[in-house]
Amino acid sequence: MQTAAERVRVLVHGASGRMGQALLRLAGERDDLSVVAAVSRTQPAQRVVEGVAHFAAAELGGAPEFDVAIDFSLPEGFDGILGLCERRGAALVSGTTGLEANQREALQAAAARIPVLWAANFSLGVAVLNELVERAAAALPGWDCDIVESHHVHKKDAPSGTALALGASAQRGGAQPRYASLRAGDIVGEHLVQFAAPGERIELVHRATNRDVFARGALHVAARLAGRAPGAYRVRDLLG
Ligand code: NAD
Repeated sequence: MQTAAERVRVLVHGASGRMGQALLRLAGERDDLSVVAAVSRTQPAQRVVEGVAHFAAAELGGAPEFDVAIDFSLPEGFDGILGLCERRGAALVSGTTGLEANQREALQAAAARIPVLWAANFSLGVAVLNELVERAAAALPGWDCDIVESHHVHKKDAPSGTALALGASAQRGGAQPRYASLRAGDIVGEHLVQFAAPGERIELVHRATNRDVFARGALHVAARLAGRAPGAYRVRDLLG
């Protein structure tokens, strides 16, 4: 059991959202970190957590000292939290998808000064699926490769960040993936990677039934990223 002074201090960015609420709830189960600030687009966060200072994005500069920010917001909020982490010398874990190319470049540049980790997906299952897809693509030259992703109706970006990451894995294996997106109901996240040739077909599927799996993964890597040397880290560097 770590004392309050030994715990990693976390700022949750996007606190009022679906992921933010899961992060705040699950952070309370850990004794290696404490959430010290919660930031949402507007003030206050829908659910006020005792002992946590809540801020609107416009008041971000007034946030207390923190060791690592966990960002699950929207692309329009990303520049603000990246800039704050750089000014404070804090680490950044981000799962925000749909970032513009210039935002990805800014994140890469920031890695020279602070530890950063961006991932399209924080689940162990998807990490393994990426490896399977690359191996399958390499073993199936000339096969059609299609990635079908399904998410809830509120998701803004398409294809999903996870689908694009799976596509990058398929490309590393030599495939040329195509994408299809479905938006329906309250689907947390499903990804089907299909390899097809005349007369046969392989389907690799991941279904997330609960977004807690992403929040737990993000909290886990955040606790391990804080205090590291500057650099761009991957989930697989910090899992295990
Ligand atoms: P949501 O719409 O429920 O919540 C968005 C949050 O961002 C809210 O708290 C909102 O107040 C905040 N926000 C919006 N604009 C902001 C701004 N300009 N400045 C600061 N905060 C701002 O979304 P969600 O379902 O929680 O998903 C959030 C992001 O995380 C999305 O990009 C989604 O695709 C991504 N996501 C990633 C993973 C993963 O494993 N990497 C998993 C699930 C969702």
